[in-house]
Amino acid sequence: MKDNTIVTHAGNHPFDNHGIVNPPVYHASTVLSPTLAARIERSAPVRYGRSGTPTTFALQEAMTALEHAHGTVLAPSGLAAITMALAAFVESGDHILITDSTYTPTRNFANNTLTKLGIEVEYFDPMVGAGIAGQIRNNTRLVWTECPGSQTFDVQDLPAIVKAAHARDVIVMTDNTWSGGYFRKPLDEGVDISVQAATKYIVGHSDVMMGTIACNEATYEQVRASSASFGMSIGPNDVYLALRGLRTIGVRMDRHHESGIKVAQWMQTRPEISRVMHPALPEDPGHEIWKRDFTGASGLFGFVLKETNQDKLAAMMDNMTLHGMGSSWGGYESLLIPNWPEQSRTASAWDVEGQCMRIHVGLEDVGDLIADLEAGLERMNKA
Ligand SMILES: *Cc1c(COP(=O)(O)O)cnc(C)c1O
Repeated sequence: MKDNTIVTHAGNHPFDNHGIVNPPVYHASTVLSPTLAARIERSAPVRYGRSGTPTTFALQEAMTALEHAHGTVLAPSGLAAITMALAAFVESGDHILITDSTYTPTRNFANNTLTKLGIEVEYFDPMVGAGIAGQIRNNTRLVWTECPGSQTFDVQDLPAIVKAAHARDVIVMTDNTWSGGYFRKPLDEGVDISVQAATKYIVGHSDVMMGTIACNEATYEQVRASSASFGMSIGPNDVYLALRGLRTIGVRMDRHHESGIKVAQWMQTRPEISRVMHPALPEDPGHEIWKRDFTGASGLFGFVLKETNQDKLAAMMDNMTLHGMGSSWGGYESLLIPNWPEQSRTASAWDVEGQCMRIHVGLEDVGDLIADLEAGLERMNKA
């Protein structure tokens, strides 16, 4: 079935629950066994609140279908999904490879926590492609990718990385948040684990923290057991909201795609903007790979303001009507923030002159969004 059908129906079993369309929100810790034999056998699907209820199973089932996975493990935030996926596989003495364009808190976890446990962390140039083979060692355990990088939007050649890694029995994981699992199926390309900050497009309404770890058959049980041993548990109301968000991800993503490209093209005509980092633009260095591996683009991309300073930037940013200044993205609303990607790169250069900016193009009318941005640039010019 196609994605729009999957996200509409997957995980719902109305006739298990009086025909009610959506799954109930089960609040549970204790789950009773009907007999001593049943308790000893431990064969009931629902055994304890922490290990899941029909509410969490519904979201897991839907995400498994969307990501073309074998099974999905939930986490209480996107970052927790990342750290759980990594922690499930590494042990002291291992070496791991991480893209230099990764989400900064992922880098911080690797540098601060994994190295403390005796794991050697090395970064690679996001453009490395098949060249990753040169960085794989006998003790390399896994490669962490994020495509495109959520600050600089470099598009990695995941199939080439998978090929080189699998030739050496190295696991490949990807942060698939940008595509929402709607514009890309990493597991179909041989990636072992696709992680999402469901906080972003799955939830889609800026009101819940959640992570998903979609695994192939070879990795699922290890991730499930490891996350369970860490005691990961997700509140049922949050799971319900994530399911509710998921039902409309198709129409939302199509609109983010369309409006994002319109805003990016408009930015290309503006003299204040020296570069637009959006892989759907034919001029973008990642365009060909994006076209091969993705079926669309989300609403998040970057651009560079040619010349500015904090006063000029403040004149623009402090008076925006529709573009809020806030971390995170993937909600229905537009966001705009400055960022400094060069501060978290060690394996590859990022020397762009000017002020990097990151925009999330939301679901508002795109003409209104462009008018808001245009007024902002004029305020900046006058300041
Ligand atoms: C936001 C984000 C995360 C972390 O998600 P949280 O739910 O905020 O913990 C991970 N990866 C990417 C690419 C993100 O943008």
